[in-house]
Amino acid sequence: MDANKKKAMQGRIKKTLEALERNNMNAAYVNTDEEALKLVMSLVPEGSYTATGGSMTLRETGIMDYLESKTDLHKEYRDAYNASYYLASANAVTEHGELYEVDGRSNRISAMYFGPEKVIVVAGINKLVPDLRSAVVRVKTEAAPANCIRLCCDTPCAKTGECASPAFDENHLGALGCKSEERICCGYAVFAQQRIKGRITVILVGEDHGY
Ligand code: SF4
Repeated sequence: MDANKKKAMQGRIKKTLEALERNNMNAAYVNTDEEALKLVMSLVPEGSYTATGGSMTLRETGIMDYLESKTDLHKEYRDAYNASYYLASANAVTEHGELYEVDGRSNRISAMYFGPEKVIVVAGINKLVPDLRSAVVRVKTEAAPANCIRLCCDTPCAKTGECASPAFDENHLGALGCKSEERICCGYAVFAQQRIKGRITVILVGEDHGY
């Protein structure tokens, strides 16, 4: 990300980290991918039982290479519930300290909700949004269309670049959508205040990553 844009975001980043901490999540900001990888390596020891949600961010930061080469990474979705460490990204992180995640099969959000002892979320600062409404719109207008194109899903948004339904409406909070069998917006999850303090760690990286 451009250095001036990054500098201009420092206030929002600080506000978000403080809000995440108030919601009982550990929160850290790192400037570079290298620092993100180093932090993950310090949190996830070699040989650990790990699992992941599909994530371009983990791949782009080099974290997936570390998990694949140095940890006991389980790729079966059901194995994720017994992992010591579950790593994923977020579709959006709000300045109120919430994580917003949207899944096609809900394997990622279900593991993040319950199961793994520790959950580590790595997100580029392009995922930062003011509030949940912006998070919903972000998914329907940016993340889902781009991911459908990347995954070659036969969905309306892969063809037109926008959701077949309104990105947000008061009655459905963005849960309307297409009837495609390959729809990727099926489970919608908000992670707000956590009962188990420190189970979730959020690492914000000062770069653009994923969609
Ligand atoms: S509901 Fe369907 S058309 Fe809308 S963003 Fe999701 S996959 Fe795309």
